[in-house]
Amino acid sequence: MVEFQYRCTECVKQYDRDQVRYLCPVCGDKYSFGTPLRGVLSVLFDYDQISRLFNVQKPDWNLFSAVERECYPAFPVGNTPFLKAERLGDELGFSNIWIKNEGVNPTGSLKDRASYTIVAEANRLGEDRIVAASTGNAASSLAAVAAATGKQAVIFVPENAPQAKLVQMIVHGACVIPVRGTYDDAFGISIEFTKEFGGLNRNTAYHPLTIEGKKYAGLEIWQQNQFRVPDFIFVPVGDGVIISGIYKAFYDLKQSRLIDRLPRLVCVQAESSDAIHRYITTGDYQPARQPHTIADSISVSVPSNVYMAAKAVQDTGGFSVTVSDEEIIEGMNILARYAGIFAEPAAATPLAALRKIRDAGMVKENEQVVLLVTGHGLKDIPAALKHVKIPKAVSPNLSDVIEMVERF
Ligand SMILES: *Cc1c(COP(=O)(O)O)cnc(C)c1O
Ligand SMILES: [Zn+2]
Repeated sequence: MVEFQYRCTECVKQYDRDQVRYLCPVCGDKYSFGTPLRGVLSVLFDYDQISRLFNVQKPDWNLFSAVERECYPAFPVGNTPFLKAERLGDELGFSNIWIKNEGVNPTGSLKDRASYTIVAEANRLGEDRIVAASTGNAASSLAAVAAATGKQAVIFVPENAPQAKLVQMIVHGACVIPVRGTYDDAFGISIEFTKEFGGLNRNTAYHPLTIEGKKYAGLEIWQQNQFRVPDFIFVPVGDGVIISGIYKAFYDLKQSRLIDRLPRLVCVQAESSDAIHRYITTGDYQPARQPHTIADSISVSVPSNVYMAAKAVQDTGGFSVTVSDEEIIEGMNILARYAGIFAEPAAATPLAALRKIRDAGMVKENEQVVLLVTGHGLKDIPAALKHVKIPKAVSPNLSDVIEMVERF
């Protein structure tokens, strides 16, 4: 680990590590319920020191961590597969399509990376209670890491979160509070709760180390890609923290003089949950009026990390795309059938976006594209059933069976 300071992404004032916990004390005051967060903090390392100490032959990833190695729980996350999807590429007309499969994290989503880092920070601070609002995955992930480490997880979720995610949280013994209302309502009440009752709040972007945790997906992509920078990374975007984390990975590498260019980051949102997309394309921030997409993990009216997400796209020369629920379902189907990867709806949006723009010339046939598959398909069976039909049973006699195979 090397020294770091927190820097406000708005006023650029810097703070020592234990001087602040969540938002910039100055800019964070402008935050009120129903608006994006203000004064989100970013971790600024001593990059000269990383540059001196990091060795690609024997990479020490602790150099990029904002929490001491010994604080991390014995609950490994990450190290997920990175694979070339040849058949999928052929189907789409591209020759260099790769997948980073985050669905195989312990609880089935990329959120495990942020939970892992926040629990490490809770260990450092001696906090036994961790509080979070979530569309589902952050909470099911926190519940598991908390269970493994004997911490209490208090979780606020919208009452309509997918059942499998709710079951995960409860199975792991979290105190689950379904909130009548949306994810945005759960976010607001969870912050009020920690202000009154304490505990460490894990809300995405509100706690700056959520961004640092998710950053490790980007660092792994660089390592698994033989320390080369891909041309594009397509990222599903809800609150905009995963895309900020991926950006932070390559920002840290560039500041440490380990790479000399950034991958172009592509923001993918659902049509009805498109506040960040609209901010990127028009410069005007408006909440999404009525997010009601099948991709529950990216369904948010007021994204907490709008400004940082937009910067991630703009600084890397990327762009932003929205996809309809129909395109998402089709994307799930194609990803499963051509790459062997079953993704939940949000996690299939990168593929849906690439399909949508394939003839627009934004991505060349041989450019390297990484699709970030953020969550496992088994988390949302009702969504998958929209494109799947379970066959009727036949009696166990050969002629019926042969007829069925021939009709398939
Ligand atoms: C949380 C989540 C996202 C979106 O991440 P943000 O940081 O909210 O933009 C995408 N896909 C899955 C599966 C998620 O759980
Ligand atoms: Zn500030």
